[in-house]
Amino acid sequence: MSTAIQTVQAFRASLLYFRADPAFDEHAHVWHEDGLLLVEDGKVKAAGDYAALAPTLPPGATVHDYRGKVITAGFIDTHLHYPQTDMIASPAPGLLPWLDTYTFPTERRFDDPAHASEVAGFFLDELARCGTTTAIVYCTVHRASVDAFFEASEARGLRMVAGKVLMDRHCPDFLRDTPECGAGDTEALINKWHKRGRQLYAITPRFAPTSSEAQLGLAGELARAYPDTFIQTHVSENHDECQWVRELFPASRSYLHVYDHYGLMRPRAMFGHCIHLDDQDFARMAATGSAAAVCPTSNLFLGSGLFDFDRADAARALLSLGTDVGAGTSFSMLQTMNEAYKVARLKGSYLPALRMFYLATLGAARSMQLEDTIGSLAPGHEADFIVLDPKATPLLARRTSHCNNLEELLFALALLGDDRAVAATYAAGRLVHTRQPA
Ligand SMILES: [Zn+2]
Repeated sequence: MSTAIQTVQAFRASLLYFRADPAFDEHAHVWHEDGLLLVEDGKVKAAGDYAALAPTLPPGATVHDYRGKVITAGFIDTHLHYPQTDMIASPAPGLLPWLDTYTFPTERRFDDPAHASEVAGFFLDELARCGTTTAIVYCTVHRASVDAFFEASEARGLRMVAGKVLMDRHCPDFLRDTPECGAGDTEALINKWHKRGRQLYAITPRFAPTSSEAQLGLAGELARAYPDTFIQTHVSENHDECQWVRELFPASRSYLHVYDHYGLMRPRAMFGHCIHLDDQDFARMAATGSAAAVCPTSNLFLGSGLFDFDRADAARALLSLGTDVGAGTSFSMLQTMNEAYKVARLKGSYLPALRMFYLATLGAARSMQLEDTIGSLAPGHEADFIVLDPKATPLLARRTSHCNNLEELLFALALLGDDRAVAATYAAGRLVHTRQPA
C-alpha cells in the first residue's frame, strides 16, 4: 500500500459550496450533482465532478460512498454560550428576568473545572451532532471555564473561538470581576490559547450594562494590542435593555456607539443580535468590518424583536447566523435557518435557502476573516465538512423525492431538517460524528 492511498481520502456525494454571497452574485454557489471531495492532511485537496476526479485517485484508494446525500462545509455558529447548555428551554418573561433567574445561577458553577469540562464535552458533541464545526462561544467570568472549553475543543481537533466573560457591575458578586483582573485574565488566556492549534480567542465583554467604562476601556486596549483576536458582545437585543443603555451612557449616540467609543468595533468584532440598529449603525458596522450574529430562535424565544435583513443588506453589513443557546432553542443551524426565514418574512424580507446556507458557512467565515481557512470546500480549506441526508426522516424523504431544483432541496432541508439530517460530521478530515440509525 502506498503512502498516497493512506493519506488521501475520497468522498462521493453531491457537493455544495460558495464563492460569494448569493444575495449579490447569481453565480455565487458551486454545485456538483455527482461530486467527489478529496481530502489530504486535514485539508481539501480537490472538489469537483466525480467523472473528472475519479481517474486522479491513487490505485486502490477507498471512496466513502455518500451518493444521494449532500456534502457542504461544516456549519459555523457565530454566537452561543456553552455554560448555558443546561438551561436551554427555561421559561422567563424576557431577557432581563431570564438573566437573573436562570443565567447567573447556572454560570456560577463554572468556577469548578470538573463541571466546566463535563459541560464543554457535551456541548461540543452536540454541536458535532448538529453539523456545526466552528462556533464563537461565550464562557463565563471564570478562567477555568475557558481552559476547560479549549481543552475539550483541542482534544476533538475542532476550530473554535471562545473567551472569558468580562463583567464588573450589575451582576451578582459571585460572577463579578474587576477591570484590572478581567483584563489580566484575558491577556493571560490570549497568550495561552490564541492560535494554539485550531483555537482562537475572543475578547468578551458580556454587554455594555455589565461592564464599567473602565472595563470597556481596557477591553478596547486589548483589542488594539491583539488585533487578530476576536471580540464578541451583545448589542441592541430588546427595548428594555436599549433603554437601560441610554440611561447608563447618556452621551452615546446609540447603543452600538458605546462599543465604537471604546475601540471595540473592528474586523473580527462579532455583535450578537443587532435588532434595533438604525441606518447609521449598520453603515458603521460595514465601515469598520464588524459583523452581526443574527440569532432568530433566541430573538423569538425572548420576544426581543425581528432582525432587519433588508436594512443590513442595504449597508452591506457582514452577516452570520447564531443559535444563542441557551436563549436560543436549538443547537441546529438548520432549525436556525428555519426561524431566520420566518423572521425575514415578518419583516417583509425574503431569505432564499441558498442565502441561508451561505450565511451558515462562507458568509460566517467572511464575517470572521477566515474565508480562506474554513466555510468552503474549495481546495486549500480546512476539511471541516458535513454530510446532509435529504431522506433522514420519512417526511423529508417524501418532500425531497420531488424537488425541481437545488433551491427546493435546500429549503426543505432548512425547514424540515435538524440534527437528524446530519449523517456525518468531519473536522479537519477526521470523522467526529456519525448518525446512528434510529
Ligand atoms: Zn448571547
